[in-house]
Parts: sequence; C-alpha cells; structure tokens
Amino acid sequence: MQSFEWVDAESVEQAVSLLGESSERQPVMAKAGGMDLLDLMKNGVVSPHRVVNLKSIKGLDGLRFDAKQGLELGALVTLARIAREPEVRGRYVALADAAEHAATPQVRNAATVGGNLLQRPRCWYFRSEHFHQTGGNDVERVREGENQYHAIFDNQRTVMVHASTPATALVAYGASVELTGPGGKTRMVPVSELLLPPDMKRARDTVIAPNEVLTRVRLPALAAGTKAAYHKQGERESYDWPICDVAVVLRMDGKVVREAAIAMGWVAPTPRRATEAEKLLVGKPLDEELARQAAKAAVSGATPLSKNAYKVPVLEAVVRRTVLAASKA
Ligand SMILES: Cc1cc2nc3c(=O)[nH]c(=O)nc-3n(C[C@H](O)[C@H](O)[C@H](O)COP(=O)(O)OP(=O)(O)OC[C@H]3O[C@@H](n4cnc5c(N)ncnc54)[C@H](O)[C@@H]3O)c2cc1C
Repeated sequence: MQSFEWVDAESVEQAVSLLGESSERQPVMAKAGGMDLLDLMKNGVVSPHRVVNLKSIKGLDGLRFDAKQGLELGALVTLARIAREPEVRGRYVALADAAEHAATPQVRNAATVGGNLLQRPRCWYFRSEHFHQTGGNDVERVREGENQYHAIFDNQRTVMVHASTPATALVAYGASVELTGPGGKTRMVPVSELLLPPDMKRARDTVIAPNEVLTRVRLPALAAGTKAAYHKQGERESYDWPICDVAVVLRMDGKVVREAAIAMGWVAPTPRRATEAEKLLVGKPLDEELARQAAKAAVSGATPLSKNAYKVPVLEAVVRRTVLAASKA
C-alpha cells in the first residue's frame, strides 16, 4: 500500500472542497468507517494520494423519526446503531434486520450507512490485483469463471452485483439519499437510482459525483397497515455474504394486500424489484398459495450463469418465505 495524506474534515463544505481537488494522478477519497476503503487499498484496487476522514464532521451521525416525514439517518450512523435503535426496529424492521445481518459485529460498529451504500462489489475478480494487472474488466472471463455468487438477472453487460445488503431494504422502503456538493447544493436521489451496475473501469458504481458527499438517508413515513420483513440467505449463519437477500414491504388491509414492494439483492447488478410478483399480490388476500405464485413470478426470466443456477430456487424460496413473514409481522 502506498503512503497517503490524511485530513480530518471539519465540515461537509471542507470535505466537498478537498474531494473536488481529486485528479487521476492524485486521487482524493472520502473515508467514513473505512471498512471498504481500507480493503480496496490493501487489495491495490485504489491508491489515494489523500484520504479525507468524514468521521470528524460533527452532526452527520443523527437519527430522527417524525410521524409525517419518516426516518432520517445521518450518513455516519453506524449499521450497529440502525440494528438496535428502537425507532428503526419498531417501525422499519426490514432495515433493522438488514443492518443486523450485514457483516460482523466489529464491522457493524464502524461501518456507516453512507459508506455501506457506496462500497464497491465483492466480486473476487474485481478485488484481485492480479486480475487487474492481467487485463481486468474482461466480462467474458468473469462470466465463464467462478461465478457462483454473481448475477442471475440482467447479466449481459456485467455479472457483478452490488454488495450492500441494507440497500435491499432501503429500495423496498422507497428511501432516498441526500448528496451535497459545492456551495452546499443538495440533491435527493432515490436509492434505486443511486446504484449503477458495477463496472471495473469506473471509479464508483453510483451516481455520486467525485465532489459530492452523501449526507443523509431518508425513508418515507409509512402508511397504516404497513408490514415488512427481510431475509438474508447465506451459506452459513455468520460472517458471510449472501447468496441473495430479500426485503418485502406490504400495506395490508386485514388479509388483503393493498400495496407491495419486493426488493431482491445479490441477484442482479443492482437491487431488483420483483414487479410482476408485486402486481400479483395487490388486491388479493395473502395466503401460502399466493405467496408461492408471487415467488415463482419473482424468478421468472432469470438467466443464470454456468455455476449459479442454484440461486434461482434459493431466491424463489426466500421470496415466498419473506412475503409470508411480512404478512405476519
Ligand atoms: C467479513 C465482512 C463481511 C461483510 N458482510 C457484509 C454484508 O453482509 N452486507 C453488507 O452490506 N456489507 C458487508 N460488508 C461490508 C461492510 O458492511 C462495508 O465495507 C461497510 O459497510 C462500508 O461502510 P464504511 O462506512 O466503512 O465505508 P468506507 O469504507 O469508509 O467507504 C466506502 C466508500 O464510500 C465512500 N464514502 C464513504 N462515506 C461517504 C460519504 N458519506 N460520502 C461520499 N463518499 C463516501 C468512500 O470513499 C469509499 O469509496 C462486510 C465486510 C466484511 C469485512
């Protein structure tokens, strides 16, 4: 790892200004919890000339709930806090569960919601210095290689999947992020539009500009009758990345589904909404059979790779169970 300068940013404005000085020869990168950034530096994927520490900025770690406005999380709120905070667990249980099942307790204590959304893919080709040195970005080599954990949908141009599992829940809740740029100018971007299909050639897989800081995450207020559930399916219970994860948010009127959002992570380059399955649920009383039909619809059109066809039935089962779990929440 090459040596680098370190700056403790005192304000968002200062961080934006420092990030704006980034150039190809002298990259400047933000650091929140540092969990992903340090991995990327150790793997030789990035070599910043200067690291701008955002954790020193006061006021970016607030968490506020308002019955009309919904939930607002400062970008520096940790995954551990999201998992245990009563306002989140009591009202946005799918997000609390997604945060609780991400990574390890040690990582969750340091990792922030902003950094989590902006982390790079866990694809082992992407993370391999050797792969990059021998002509990385070769989609065909990845497609024909060890693709067990790669995309089973929308995998023509890239087979990598976004790593963030809290993103799956945030997409289901219709959350947005606030991005702050020069002059304090802010813009709100839905999480579903923030994430771009991962690309080895690009410096980031989101629409954030190099001179913007992700400052807040906002979840809308939930209508009466909203129920939700989240499930992350790994090969083992602890310390593992998912095979897939699913977040379901339903607005129920008794047993009848009035609105449905089903988001599926780790199966497409970005979290995928199961729109056909959602349509199937709306207007009907939810029972085992309807959940089964919805799960079947959710996996239709999958185009698995040579080593990940096993993901299709796993995803189908997880969608079915998570839909049922949400209805009983
Ligand atoms: C063993 C292990 C298991 C894991 N399992 C999971 C899992 O199941 N699910 C999951 O989601 N993650 C998992 N992770 C990844 C971990 O959750 C992320 O690395 C972490 O959440 C990143 O957050 P951070 O605050 O440390 O980000 P950082 O590493 O500080 O930053 C990540 C990226 O975002 C940029 N950045 C950070 N904050 C901002 C901001 N506010 N504005 C602008 N740019 C910013 C940085 O420049 C960097 O490029 C796992 C990690 C490990 C080590």
